[in-house]
Amino acid sequence: MTEPTEQGLSTRSVHSGERRDPEGAIHTPLYTHSTFAFGSTADLLDVVEGRKPGNLYTRYGLNPTIRSLESKLADLEGGEQALAFSSGMAAEAATFLAHTRTGEHIVCIGDVYGGTFELLGDNLPQLGITTTFLRADEVHRLPDVLSGSTRIVFFETPSNPTLDIFDIATISGQARASGALTVVDNTFATPVNQNPLRHGADLVVHSATKYLGGHSDLTAGALIGPADLLGPVAMWRKNLGQVISPETASLLARSLRSLPVRVRAQNDTATAVASFLTTHPRVTRVNYPGLATGEAKQLVDAQMRGGGGMLSVVLDATGEQTAAVVDRLRLFSIAPSLGGVESLVTQPITTTHHGLAPDERAKRGIADSMIRLSVGLEDADDLIGDLAQALATP
Ligand code: PLP
Repeated sequence: MTEPTEQGLSTRSVHSGERRDPEGAIHTPLYTHSTFAFGSTADLLDVVEGRKPGNLYTRYGLNPTIRSLESKLADLEGGEQALAFSSGMAAEAATFLAHTRTGEHIVCIGDVYGGTFELLGDNLPQLGITTTFLRADEVHRLPDVLSGSTRIVFFETPSNPTLDIFDIATISGQARASGALTVVDNTFATPVNQNPLRHGADLVVHSATKYLGGHSDLTAGALIGPADLLGPVAMWRKNLGQVISPETASLLARSLRSLPVRVRAQNDTATAVASFLTTHPRVTRVNYPGLATGEAKQLVDAQMRGGGGMLSVVLDATGEQTAAVVDRLRLFSIAPSLGGVESLVTQPITTTHHGLAPDERAKRGIADSMIRLSVGLEDADDLIGDLAQALATP
């Protein structure tokens, strides 16, 4: 892990990884090219055999636009290297495939994105790679379920949609003692609010489709960590053809330059929205890391720098009444994604957790009357006004 540079996160978001071309373009240009030419066979072999960094073939990720983006991503997360992917799921799949073999085992803690559940629960077992799923309230059982064949411990923190916070340092320590890697999905927190590598995680994965992209106009993924752990993943990315496109890489680098400004504004607005909701008579529970109390607050203070833009609330209502509240919202659009400039709302039982059996949802605290909010960049007062009007009708 490289030490954080002297410069602040906003400065690094703008300048890190950028390459001026001979024309003087202010940022790294978009190179759409599939291949790159060499002056000599010796020069080509230097890159092919890894003696010199360079450009070669875009599917390998050896493209200047992609490499520039990856330098920025690595810097923001405080990792040695980064790999950029065509989606968050591509990053996760390549990571699991590279670091587990048939007969080996993964532990997944807490609620994770539905696609991750499917990958671990349905796809990987076809290859003889099995996963033990621990609910949030079972995290203390981790040492019992780690075995000699466990290669990866995976979790999101904060998790979706209950916004549970997991102790990265403790879990990483337990995993390491058992010879397993810890992989943290940092999509909800972003590197602005949390750097899991600094707390002991081995690898950090992102759905860059969310906050890193930030405008709901691209699909991408990222993996950050030490070069020796990324090498095997890069091979899977290359041979599965999962690399980010140069066009998307350029758009994502554009978005990263404003990441701290966006996420800090979203932290503030989400705090205001969550505070309003805690006082509302129709709201029975607000899940927001920025308002955590007790042990959860200690953990938030220890590993996060902001509460993020995501929150979920449980209403004193039936599932149908909750859907009606969602339908009355005007500024929050009904959509399953998150992390964009526009505010979004979902009722998890209709989207992310639709496939989960009702008793399993109940065990995980995902009520029919839960709604999840992704707070955008609108004015806090307008968002609060919208929620107030939607909650006003019984
Ligand atoms: N991780 C989290 C926390 C997500 O919310 C998602 C998607 O919603 C993913 C991973 C998968 O990312 P993508 O849709 O970019 O493949």
